[in-house]
Amino acid sequence: MENKKIIIIGGGPAGLAAAIEANNAGIAPDDILILERDRELGGILNQCIHAGFGLHMFGEELTGPEYAGRFIDIVKERNIGYLCDAMVLSVSAEREVSFVSPTEGFCRVKAGAIVLAMGCRERTRGALNIAGSRPAGIYSAGTAQRYVNIDGYLPGKRVVILGSGDIGLIMARRMTLEGAKVLRVCELMPYSGGLPRNIAQCLDDFDIPLYLSHTVTGIHGKERLEGVTVAKVGDDRRPIAGTEEYIECDTLLLSVGLLPENELTREAGITIDRITGGAQVDETMQTSIPGIFACGNVLHVHDLVDFVTKEAYRAGASAAKFVNEGGSTPTGSTLQTEGKNGVRYVMPQKINADGALTTETTLFFRVDNIYRDKFVTLSVDGTEIFRRKKRFLEPGQMENITLSEDAVKAIRSGKTVTVALA
Ligand SMILES: Cc1cc2nc3c(=O)[nH]c(=O)nc-3n(C[C@H](O)[C@H](O)[C@H](O)COP(=O)(O)OP(=O)(O)OC[C@H]3O[C@@H](n4cnc5c(N)ncnc54)[C@H](O)[C@@H]3O)c2cc1C
Repeated sequence: MENKKIIIIGGGPAGLAAAIEANNAGIAPDDILILERDRELGGILNQCIHAGFGLHMFGEELTGPEYAGRFIDIVKERNIGYLCDAMVLSVSAEREVSFVSPTEGFCRVKAGAIVLAMGCRERTRGALNIAGSRPAGIYSAGTAQRYVNIDGYLPGKRVVILGSGDIGLIMARRMTLEGAKVLRVCELMPYSGGLPRNIAQCLDDFDIPLYLSHTVTGIHGKERLEGVTVAKVGDDRRPIAGTEEYIECDTLLLSVGLLPENELTREAGITIDRITGGAQVDETMQTSIPGIFACGNVLHVHDLVDFVTKEAYRAGASAAKFVNEGGSTPTGSTLQTEGKNGVRYVMPQKINADGALTTETTLFFRVDNIYRDKFVTLSVDGTEIFRRKKRFLEPGQMENITLSEDAVKAIRSGKTVTVALA
């Protein structure tokens, strides 16, 4: 296969938006190649048949496939290059991508720029060390979602869900609608990891109880799951002796966190952020290796696809600029961003003083606990330049700050940008 100006790894909403924006910025459709390991484009949205996508981007409530479909249609109308069933095996710092596909065999292609858009995967039982046997009937929530929504199988009838992230909440409702009895959702933390709207629409509306500060401590059954032991946990997140309860069930769904898929990123030698699990990027979404950009869930886990799309537009435009300008990158000083006083991380991690910072730039951040009636502050070298009142902040909801003209000016002349709660 011939070399390409831009290779995009992953054909989910991030990869699709990056490809469209690279084309908008002047890269010819056949100079772009999206490599997707699944049999079709669309990513995780193909199995998310519930509504709730696109409120920010289109002002409409779309299902996952409808949202992805809008971008797939544009990619196809413009003849932007893509290859499904193509599994990328490696990416090098020299921007060489190797992949295998049934039609092309093993290929090694050189790219002018690369956009990483591989999404994320779910944590499994193995990551939790729950004691007990290994019967059938234990699934990650996303696997169960695929069985129900794509393959047409109902994984079980009496269900306990561990973890109250959005996928767990959505599956509590989905399994109920399909005739299963969801007995409870247990959450280790004293707060839910999901969006408030999903708690209201997926649990409260169906009278499904949410047990905060609870976990599953035992799994019972030989061939098939017969029950789980659930216990309350203390402030140290350890089970409290004497609070154990046996729940008879045939299915346990795990919704216990998402991990950005960064094996390719690590092997390429790209610097990874310890907190997000994704690459460290600057305001153009460029990673520590010039010409390699990242966006979407592979960069940091998003709760709303609209922000994935926005971020991917930036990555696609920056990749095109990199190619069109012969691989030039900003040479001036670089500022670091940091989170303090309850802010877990800030993305992007770096800002180039002479780079692409504008009032269109968004700083994303997450808090580390539930907070009420706080101010979100933005400071440059210790001087506060912005403050906004927030009545409610929680780790499950990604927050953002859009920069004013004055903020852009102040940041360009500083060294450190701090987002903090006050
Ligand atoms: C159950 C669930 C419910 C959600 N509900 C909502 C909602 O109501 N509203 C909302 O706005 N958002 C929701 N989201 C979030 C939203 O769907 C995601 O943020 C978004 O899909 C992330 O897009 P992405 O392109 O980064 O990743 P993905 O959609 O995961 O796409 C990544 C793609 O990369 C491919 N890939 C990975 N590795 C390779 C490789 N080595 N080679 C080739 N291809 C590769 C994968 O096959 C995949 O197709 C939900 C997500 C889930 C899982």
